[in-house]
Amino acid sequence: MYIERSLQRIVVLDGYSEDGVVERLRQAAVAAVILASDWHHALTLAAEPGSVVLLGDLFFPVPEQCPAPVVHLTRQTDSEPLPAGVVDSIHCEVGVTELLRCLRYAHDRQQMLSALARAATDDPLTGCINRQMLQDRLKHSMQRALRANQPLAVMVLDLDNFSHVNDTLGHAAGDAIIRQVADRLRGVLRATDTVGRIGSDEFSVIVEEYLNAANLMHIVKKIVATLSEPFGVGSDSLLLGSSLGIATYPEAGQSVDSLLLHASVAVQQAKDQPGCSYHFYDERINRQANTQIEFEAQLREALHSNELELHYQPRVDLRSGKIVGVEGLIRWRHPVRGFLAPDEFIPLAEETGLIIPMGYWVIARACHDLRTLQRRGIALNVAVNMSFRQFLDSRLLPTVQRLIQKTGIDPRMLEFELTETAVMQHPEQVQQTMAGMTRQGLRFSLDDFGTGFSSFVHLHSLPINLLKLDRSFVRGIVDCPADRKLVAAMIEMGHSLGLEVVAEGVEARAQMECLRELGCDQIQGFFISPALPFVELCYFVDAYSMGREDALRPPEKKLVAQLAGCRSN
Ligand SMILES: [Mg+2]
Repeated sequence: MYIERSLQRIVVLDGYSEDGVVERLRQAAVAAVILASDWHHALTLAAEPGSVVLLGDLFFPVPEQCPAPVVHLTRQTDSEPLPAGVVDSIHCEVGVTELLRCLRYAHDRQQMLSALARAATDDPLTGCINRQMLQDRLKHSMQRALRANQPLAVMVLDLDNFSHVNDTLGHAAGDAIIRQVADRLRGVLRATDTVGRIGSDEFSVIVEEYLNAANLMHIVKKIVATLSEPFGVGSDSLLLGSSLGIATYPEAGQSVDSLLLHASVAVQQAKDQPGCSYHFYDERINRQANTQIEFEAQLREALHSNELELHYQPRVDLRSGKIVGVEGLIRWRHPVRGFLAPDEFIPLAEETGLIIPMGYWVIARACHDLRTLQRRGIALNVAVNMSFRQFLDSRLLPTVQRLIQKTGIDPRMLEFELTETAVMQHPEQVQQTMAGMTRQGLRFSLDDFGTGFSSFVHLHSLPINLLKLDRSFVRGIVDCPADRKLVAAMIEMGHSLGLEVVAEGVEARAQMECLRELGCDQIQGFFISPALPFVELCYFVDAYSMGREDALRPPEKKLVAQLAGCRSN
């Protein structure tokens, strides 16, 4: 850090001229020594760079902040605390060398402090303010805009593929370009606008009082035009694309963070266009919000228009080889986009709260299908997946009770799959709901086991009947001894807690054999069958039980063909 060491002038404000202080300083001739008539005169003189003010006892208290360091020249011999606004104190009878050393020290210290202050607010490469300072300025600009009812815009801009410039031309070339960007921005902006460098090749501009959108557009176009010019790198010139995102206050955000974030979001949008381009945030939120609103409306509609389907994936007991249960998995037959898997619409359903009615639709559908199975004399557990949000809904228990009554199913055949996160997030509330449902005879399984953070206390205290090992552990079970050990340990732990263990995602016979050796109770996965529409499931179960002699084989080709012929939809 460079520190200005030259002490240029000493402003003396005291009644001590008779002590010869001024005389002695003048004789030393290291700096201009000027006598100030009063404090205001001293302040004016001290505004010159390289000044120090020497202040006598008569001028206390110091009335306002001085641009130069103030040293107290005192007659007191015992050290007192320094008055506010004074950096040092020295006795008036010391020798001139000592006095000068004291003044120089005060001066250098001040220089260092202001260099530090600059480092905290300025970007040393461009001289623009840094991110922190920009946020500070933005905060004040927002307050001003609000008070004066004036428009305010925040822009964020970055250079396209700038890291490539650094990588291929070196960092010195990169720095030269960054400096040119800063100069060009300052060149086209008004004195009242603020430019800050907020990242390696990222700048932000605050534009105040532009009166109307046309003026703002004019400024935007000037920035885009100046950045479209080639940059000089040594003797070469280089064309670089840049992207400018604009967020206006208060439409695009009410806080510093949200305005800057939304301007950055608009930058990403601008990046879709080549060259130097700009994008306003508002358009994007509108469009995105519209898409989301549309999709949400479609999902709402799907709930009432039979576009949702519950498919069932069978679960096989490894001892008897029988299908003992099925897991219901939701699908959306979208009129335009075709079959949608849960991960394409469940996040939206969670976000919009539609997961609650959708969850009830799933339970109702499962109860209905369970009744059909019972009427056909097929005894299968039917499991449905539950989101933890459903568990926070007080209507869950009465609704399930009503559905059981209405359909007349055996509640012991209905099973709810919960993920570890759901169970662990609100243990008490979940515990209460689960206890109430268990009293009804309903069963629970812990889904995706091993991927979350189950507490053994909860595993033990909750009424869970089954552990479903996540597919990620099953995948490597044949080839990876570590995976096998892990699965063995999980199976043993499940058994010691009195739980049955189901392995998910079983795709090959070798995996099944391995799981059987480890004592796993049930398996589920493509090796048995993918999830099937209910009608196909019924055929599958019949066909499977007829071929019991080799029940664990996947459905033969002949069988699949036969099933395909039986599809009703
Ligand atoms: Mg599941």
